[in-house]
Amino acid sequence: MTSLTKIIATVGPACEKSEVLKKLIEAGVSIFRLNLKHNDISWHRKIIQNIDILRKKYGYEVGMMLDLQGPELRLLTKNMADIEVFRGEEVYLGDVFLTDQKSIILSKKGITNKIKIGEKIYIDSGLYEFKVVFSKKGLVVLKSIQDCVIKNGKSMAIPGFENNLPALTRSDFSNLSEFCGLPVNFVCLSFCRSKEDIKKLRQVLKLRNMKVSVVSKIESRTGLNNLDEIIDASDGVMVARGDLGVEVPIKEIAFWQKEIIRSCRLKNKPVIVATQMMESMVEMAKPTRAEVSDVANAVFDGADSLMLSGETAVGKYPIGVVTYMQSICQFTEYKRPIDRLRRKQLKVGDLMVNSVRNLVVNSKNVSIDKILVFSKSGNTARFISSYRLGIPMISLTDSKKTVKDMLLSYAIIPYFKKFSSGKFDASGEIIDELIKIGLLKKGERVIVVHGQSWLVSSTTNEVGVFEV
Ligand code: PGA
Ligand code: MN
Repeated sequence: MTSLTKIIATVGPACEKSEVLKKLIEAGVSIFRLNLKHNDISWHRKIIQNIDILRKKYGYEVGMMLDLQGPELRLLTKNMADIEVFRGEEVYLGDVFLTDQKSIILSKKGITNKIKIGEKIYIDSGLYEFKVVFSKKGLVVLKSIQDCVIKNGKSMAIPGFENNLPALTRSDFSNLSEFCGLPVNFVCLSFCRSKEDIKKLRQVLKLRNMKVSVVSKIESRTGLNNLDEIIDASDGVMVARGDLGVEVPIKEIAFWQKEIIRSCRLKNKPVIVATQMMESMVEMAKPTRAEVSDVANAVFDGADSLMLSGETAVGKYPIGVVTYMQSICQFTEYKRPIDRLRRKQLKVGDLMVNSVRNLVVNSKNVSIDKILVFSKSGNTARFISSYRLGIPMISLTDSKKTVKDMLLSYAIIPYFKKFSSGKFDASGEIIDELIKIGLLKKGERVIVVHGQSWLVSSTTNEVGVFEV
């Protein structure tokens, strides 16, 4: 049995081979992320095909997530050479290279004249900080806060600057067309700022006839300010700590992680914690104590999914890092107390779901092994999942899209099933099937949640308990 918290692994050169992808799935990866910031389109298409071959050959239930590049600024160096910069030294940023100076330009023109004196600028995913000490007519002088090496093609961030750029860039539009008809399940919207950004993306997806779910990445102050409407408009949300830690002061990261997770749980939307969870394992075979604590704390916070970036994409131990993450999650989930979400308004249907929580909390001496839910759209399953009950939940649906959607959510084991009859029967054919494939075992105690008829959505109104 894998952890209830789901693991998302970013694909890159370190795990691109089918044997490695297969081992990652077996180690507990639920979803693979394809980050369009790196590698070219044909590489991504090939990976998608290879993962799909594995899905079909071995029957793996694994999802694929396409992460759009978004409005990112990249810098270029003279002759693509590395520039060594010492603390306190100045670097020139303009639209053309300056001879005799340490000089860089941006991949997009017309930006430098918007940069103001006193602003901070971050290079290489926030690794290096610079202060703007001069800015006139498009020529900017940056003072380095540390010794560093500026490499060609690295990212440059100016906090708040994303407001001047569209969340969906022209290259995002054209990239999306390249993935039409491919078996991708999620699209991530980088630097999502408002529900309007999501609306625009959904229009583009519809136009391209792509039936995928939208995960909004919160990585700017504007995104935080519009958090509620973004969660409402999204199918899932990512706490994108990498860029968020550049866009807002880094000290705020843990606070926002908790806020975003809590808000998503209240709205029954899956939430991912991303970036640097096990960063040291890019090089080392074991995580640091702080990383173990970070992973465990994300579970305590109630994240649905945890994401690995460079650790699996370019790291030395892609399988090892997933194995560590799995074991930390499993241990922590077992220790995590069930909390009560303080929902303000409950509907009648919500009361049924609440009663599942109460059954689990009050049945400690009996011990419930599994929850079985029929959830056509996944909504009932996600609602139960939001309580983080510490029990695996088999969720039956007759929608192939819902199966993939549910891969993001805590504790949900999605299972595709076409229903012939509308009534639940604890000794019926479905239970036999679940025993046969190993999802249920004889003697297990199961809470079952269903409606009057399994064939009709939004009719969930019965909760029962039975022994297999
Ligand atoms: P990225 O997004 O890896 O695509 O930059 C995640 C983050 O910013 O944390
Ligand atoms: Mn990012």
